[in-house]
Amino acid sequence: MKQGIQLQNWFEKEKRTFPWREGKTPYAVWVSEVMLQQTRAACVVPYFHRWMNQFSTIKKLAEAKEEEVIKLWEGLGYYSRARNLHLGAQEILERFSGKFPDTLEELLSIKGIGPYTAGAILNFAFQKKAQAIDGNVKRVLSRLFAIEACITSKPFEVRARKELETLLNEPRPWVTSEALIELGALVCMPTPSCEVCPLKKGCKAFSLNQVGSFPLKPQRKKVTVLERAVAIIMAEEKVLIQKKETGVMKGLYEFPYFPKESRWPVGLLETFLGEPFILEGMLDEVVHTFTKYRARLYPAFGRVSKCLPLEGVWVPVETLETYPFSSGHRRVLKHFNARYYEVT
Ligand code: SF4
Repeated sequence: MKQGIQLQNWFEKEKRTFPWREGKTPYAVWVSEVMLQQTRAACVVPYFHRWMNQFSTIKKLAEAKEEEVIKLWEGLGYYSRARNLHLGAQEILERFSGKFPDTLEELLSIKGIGPYTAGAILNFAFQKKAQAIDGNVKRVLSRLFAIEACITSKPFEVRARKELETLLNEPRPWVTSEALIELGALVCMPTPSCEVCPLKKGCKAFSLNQVGSFPLKPQRKKVTVLERAVAIIMAEEKVLIQKKETGVMKGLYEFPYFPKESRWPVGLLETFLGEPFILEGMLDEVVHTFTKYRARLYPAFGRVSKCLPLEGVWVPVETLETYPFSSGHRRVLKHFNARYYEVT
């Protein structure tokens, strides 16, 4: 039996049930696929439900405020994905009258829709033959065909696309596509379960007894460690927070922070404030990893005489929870709340 058909038969029996697999609309497929990038499917389910309840249509998403969109995304990380969904919805509303296009070229012309997401929308929502190659699929293809090229390289991509095209040369290629993604998530995982794999008879890496050698990985990137002293500055029952206008944290709030020296840098903070800072306590350290950085956050809280005219906004302590924070500073806020509400 051909591999495409074997995959389809396996998928029909083993596929997981997810809300985005019911009545697949292009919009639901788009949202779920963007959420599923970098996040485990089980974690995505509650976010998906909340999102589809609040922004049930492209129009509702397009017309929402950016802050509402970011808030709903809080906890999923990589916030540019949420901003791109928002911008993409506005584009679909303006350029396509709110109706999802069904060609690869048009989908790729929309902000935030890359080749994988476009392929997934064409497959799952429009039932068209299209390649959708995510990290899972790359891993499966690299092993299935024992591809001797680094998984991030151009030669790998060319070979993987060629092999995938052959796999999709069966009736219902959109089912094969989804099956391949599911196989990568459930069976051909980083540590694979080859004994239950429907493709093991035709798998090159398995027959060569070299499953552990594939995929060929790129050299590891160096992680840069950032040491930051985070200041929770209070005055008149308010706290100073700052909205990030650029970078990966764009649109998110953080407490002011300063480079950490051997001691907590009260001097630097007081230069920023222009007056003394009455330190009331230190909070537990938080380690936060994003892109190629590992930030060590050393939070402290204390008071100044009044709400000084500084960069940022002073917001009532009890409303802090309603702001979208970066995930590191959200954890700082959690430690702060535990201490603040214990002592007040
Ligand atoms: Fe992956 Fe093993 Fe299946 Fe090959 S046999 S595709 S390595 S799970």
